Amino acid sequence: MSGDLGELYQEIILEHSKAPRNFRKPETANRQAEGYNPLCGDRCTVYVDLDGDAIKEIGFQGSGCAISRASASMMTQMVKGKSKAEATKLFEQFHNLVTGKAQAVQASDLGKMAVFGGVSKFPARVKCATLAWHTLQSALEDKHETVSTE
Ligand code: ZN
Repeated sequence: MSGDLGELYQEIILEHSKAPRNFRKPETANRQAEGYNPLCGDRCTVYVDLDGDAIKEIGFQGSGCAISRASASMMTQMVKGKSKAEATKLFEQFHNLVTGKAQAVQASDLGKMAVFGGVSKFPARVKCATLAWHTLQSALEDKHETVSTE
């Protein structure tokens, strides 16, 4: 890895990684899915309280690198209260961002998550950043197999 990796660990990512938000299983959760990124060893379980089409409550648990934890933490804050379609759209935007396809305008829709734009320079890290999002999709679709990024 080059020295540029330092840019990835911006303050906000480190902060979320140390103190992840919604790091719990909500009591009312009625959907859940597990994700695994064998490349890095990241694991996460995403819990959702889906009320009709709305993500009423969300939480996650698991272990992994700073990028995967921070991404999951910020994702839970971002999609809480959103509809399934809105969450899917955010995932598309986030995916475009971390794979370097996003326009500046799209990145601004992601708010603080725009800090993950630096990930696009490190293809191996894209899987860390998107693990929680893939897992959320699986939970929303009510799939029961573990999501693997491989
Ligand atoms: Zn990772």
